[in-house]
Amino acid sequence: MKIFNTLSRRKEEFVPLEPGKVKMYVCGPTVYNFIHIGNARPMIVFDTVRRYFEYKGYQVNYVSNFTDVDDKIIKKAVEESVDAEVISCRYIEECKKDMAGMNVKPATAHPQATREIDGMLEMINTLIETGHAYAAQDGTVYFRTGSFKDYGKLSHKNLDELQSGFREIKVTGEEGKEDPSDFVLWKPKKEGEPYWESPWCQGRPGWHIECSVMAKKYLGDQIDIHAGGEDLIFPHHENEIAQSEAANGKPFAAYWMHNAFLNIDNRKMSKSLGNFFTVREISEKYDLQVLRFFMLSAHYRSPLNFSAELMEASKNGLERILTGAERLGEAEKAARERKAGESDSGQVPAKGLSRDEEAFVAEAKELAAKYEAAMDDDFNTADAIAAVFELVKLSNSTVSGDSSPAYIGFMKELLEKLCDVMGIVTRREAVALDEEIEAMIEARQQARKAKNFALADEIRGRLLEMGIVLEDTREGVKWKRA
Ligand code: AMP
Ligand code: ZN
Repeated sequence: MKIFNTLSRRKEEFVPLEPGKVKMYVCGPTVYNFIHIGNARPMIVFDTVRRYFEYKGYQVNYVSNFTDVDDKIIKKAVEESVDAEVISCRYIEECKKDMAGMNVKPATAHPQATREIDGMLEMINTLIETGHAYAAQDGTVYFRTGSFKDYGKLSHKNLDELQSGFREIKVTGEEGKEDPSDFVLWKPKKEGEPYWESPWCQGRPGWHIECSVMAKKYLGDQIDIHAGGEDLIFPHHENEIAQSEAANGKPFAAYWMHNAFLNIDNRKMSKSLGNFFTVREISEKYDLQVLRFFMLSAHYRSPLNFSAELMEASKNGLERILTGAERLGEAEKAARERKAGESDSGQVPAKGLSRDEEAFVAEAKELAAKYEAAMDDDFNTADAIAAVFELVKLSNSTVSGDSSPAYIGFMKELLEKLCDVMGIVTRREAVALDEEIEAMIEARQQARKAKNFALADEIRGRLLEMGIVLEDTREGVKWKRA
């Protein structure tokens, strides 16, 4: 498996720190409003990366934060005359709803900055004690970039150039800096702002320190993958490396992955430019699976331009896959009914694959290998999707009600598995309610009592299709979602 590493600017073979495990940290949003579809790009892309690792058998520990203390949150709180926490809580909840709509799996942990202040104080303290940070007279604590010899290694910037570049820029309130390229770890509170006690002043953390601290707490000093949008390379990720490596004395992340921008009219979609659509707005017009499919139609390191035409094309593409999956579901049902009929009349149902089907299975396996090769090559989702289209084409032209259950089952399972990595759900049925399931189980019991075993089997099959597994126990029938 090859991953493009921003650190080396090369594709590198992925070797996990611990065999079979992946520790991954993805910078999450600042929660002061509904997320826009630009923010959704890293969520979808890195969720897909996670899902592919899981498909390959890795156990993934996936951490993604919410930045819940920030100037923009405070500004919004002042506008609404509420506490900053009211704003951040509200938009964390809204963000989680959007993530669920886009089928982004919840992270193993979703830490929030305001709940990790102790860890930040501890790391800042260590940095001061080891000479990597200093407190200015007003209580602001700065990281001393000159003390970290690798500063600039991620963004491939040279510290001398950075220092001279920064020298021109004077920031009010930052007069206590030893060097213009030093950055804030802790800053004094301003009137009306949330603050915490610290040895240096009542205040709040800088932005970068939160990710270093959360990654350490939830994943350890060394992690496999650190990811986010490419705008985070400098200064955010560069500063995270400086803080973590200076404090822990170990290399921080082995692989740094960055997604390119989602643009609109060839400009980065952003809150500040006002050229954005929220995920919520898109959900009013499209199923969010279409948005997900659209995002994955391009390689994550290529800029992607949002347009109504491309969304329509994604909608049609997705429809082709879903229709293919639906046809497989229907063929499966037909085969089951045929089997029930056959067992009624005492005939033995056909088992195994026909000779033609064996050849089709081999073809399908080749397509699955093509899919994996694309994903192994730095998560080339565009090529992987092309392989899924070919699989659908093969399935459409070879599967019918007369196909063997083994062949239909193989194709259906393969298509579902490959789509699941992309976060695409192929089953169209809405999630069934418990009462519906119970009513079906009761109908099956009645059929069994009446010795209509074909009907009972059919009901069991339908439930299985809905993802419900039955277990006949001494205490009666038990069921669970598969
Ligand atoms: P923010 O809330 O601005 O800190 O952004 C949260 C995440 O979304 C970060 O990983 C950003 O890099 C990413 N992001 C923001 N805007 C875009 C965009 N237009 N395209 C791609 N990623 C973006
Ligand atoms: Zn971060």
